[in-house]
Amino acid sequence: MSKKARRDREDREGAERVGAYRDAGRLVLVEGMPMPQRCPICNSEDVVEPVAVVLDTQRKKAGISAAIGSAFEKLKGWKYTGPVAVELYFCKTHRWRGLYRCLIGLVMALSGLGYLAYVLSVTDLRNAGNQSLSIATIASLIALIGGFVVLMIPLYDPASVWFKPYKFWDRAVWVTGAGTAFLRSLPAYQAEERDPREEIRKYLRDR
Ligand SMILES: [Zn+2]
Repeated sequence: MSKKARRDREDREGAERVGAYRDAGRLVLVEGMPMPQRCPICNSEDVVEPVAVVLDTQRKKAGISAAIGSAFEKLKGWKYTGPVAVELYFCKTHRWRGLYRCLIGLVMALSGLGYLAYVLSVTDLRNAGNQSLSIATIASLIALIGGFVVLMIPLYDPASVWFKPYKFWDRAVWVTGAGTAFLRSLPAYQAEERDPREEIRKYLRDR
């Protein structure tokens, strides 16, 4: 389908057919609904195949920290009923953001490691206690640890390279991180439609 035809179809089908809304500068994603075929970061229509994005809380799943987590979530007005999974279309550049970050982290960590290995190889270990750490050695230690963190974040929480959850409400999630042009193109979320299940039912009924 051409971009124009796709856009026309989206326009024709109207706002209620798409599971994405804007709400005070945040993107609202509703699970089980089709998403606009545009990149949520740069609004490009030149998108590749959809990516399954899972928005989740980072709290532990069991025990006392979960109890504290869920009490805190209620205070914030959340109704967390589990991870929200949506299929989003990204442009080529933003599709691979997580991979780029992993590569940057890997290069940082390896260069830090390389310099430390060099320092170790030229240090007389018997007198090592008398030598203070050079700035280059400290910098390479920071690069090693920092690079490892940069590498691990996209692996541990892949969705975090694009979005930060702001609020969960049943099968919908409010996130920050979407581009302004993309948000402007979306319908505003109506407070009276706050039950995402109703929207999914409506979508399935009207289809
Ligand atoms: Zn993009």
